[in-house]
Amino acid sequence: MERPGLRGSPFSDQVPARANKRTPVAKGLSERSTMAEMHCDVAIIGAGTAGLAAERAARRDGARTLLIDDRFAGTTCATVGCMPSKLLIAAANAAHNVRKASIFGIRTSEPAIDGQAVMVRLRKERDAFVSSTLKTISEIPFGICVRQRARFIDARTLQLDDGRRVSAKAFVVATGARPAVPKVFDGLKDLVLTNESVFELPTLPRSMAVVGAGPLGLELAQALTRLGVETHVFEQSDRLSAIPDTDVANAFISQLSAELSIHLGIGLEAARTGDLVQISWSGTSSGMKTFEAGTSTAQAAMRGVARRKNDWSPPCKSSRGIT
Ligand SMILES: Cc1cc2nc3c(=O)[nH]c(=O)nc-3n(C[C@H](O)[C@H](O)[C@H](O)COP(=O)(O)OP(=O)(O)OC[C@H]3O[C@@H](n4cnc5c(N)ncnc54)[C@H](O)[C@@H]3O)c2cc1C
Repeated sequence: MERPGLRGSPFSDQVPARANKRTPVAKGLSERSTMAEMHCDVAIIGAGTAGLAAERAARRDGARTLLIDDRFAGTTCATVGCMPSKLLIAAANAAHNVRKASIFGIRTSEPAIDGQAVMVRLRKERDAFVSSTLKTISEIPFGICVRQRARFIDARTLQLDDGRRVSAKAFVVATGARPAVPKVFDGLKDLVLTNESVFELPTLPRSMAVVGAGPLGLELAQALTRLGVETHVFEQSDRLSAIPDTDVANAFISQLSAELSIHLGIGLEAARTGDLVQISWSGTSSGMKTFEAGTSTAQAAMRGVARRKNDWSPPCKSSRGIT
């Protein structure tokens, strides 16, 4: 599935941008260049929220910088992370508040949720955030952005995929993470959603299994439940690792369980039956449920919410020289 932010991207190998005489420009990059060696004070790998902030701060302090990213897609946060997830939560809270309005003496009927309209609005607002991030990137002075994948070949040198090398006095590794789909879903990848695809659903599914009860899994599950999706959360651990205090974690789970089905301390098996996915679980509790596609748009959906850090090939175990 195409990731948002890439559509109509104006960027080519290096991102053209406004010239700014006062801006220090990395040696070898003052103009479109095919030079094999580039040198700078600070090389930043990854143009996500962290990398963009690091580059801006280093440049403000007078450093010659290079910002290297394989996509310049507009950050995980804006494209497939914080922004779309909070937009889904905003829609869910709107429905929740309607249901709870009677607390204030306001009588309402059960809200009618138009799943397609929810997803269309989410993407429209999300795309506005992405555009704004891409605009910020396009305003970085010319010659600083390099669209390449980078890896360390020693503590002071990066190898880019196009053959060029970058040496720097300091490096910032801001390469983010990507979804890690549990092995049990190996044969079912076409039916698995991750944060990179769930916000592209044309409408809300009828049911959803959320695998992993970390913050991302739980916020997604609660939002979907409030939007009328039958949602089950599956977690192999018998406790919430994100909340170290057992009493707080238990209180949190009991509060959430009033709204959605959470299965802690279980092992999962998943099997395909046609277009459907059957999940069976055992451990603290056991059961079996089919996540079904009633229509062509409401498909069985699971989400690997664990995230794995992106690869940038550390130059040595101690990572000396890398900041
Ligand atoms: C669904 C979801 C909801 C979230 N909600 C919140 C929230 O509410 N609040 C919050 O604080 N956080 C939230 N997060 C987490 C937040 O989105 C991330 O922590 C943050 O976006 C990470 O930013 P980053 O700059 O580290 O990485 P990214 O934005 O992922 O940027 C990393 C960049 O590095 C590039 N890259 C990777 N490897 C290489 C390489 N070798 N060479 C060149 N480029 C490379 C990648 O292509 C990418 O462009 C959420 C995440 C998800 C998935």
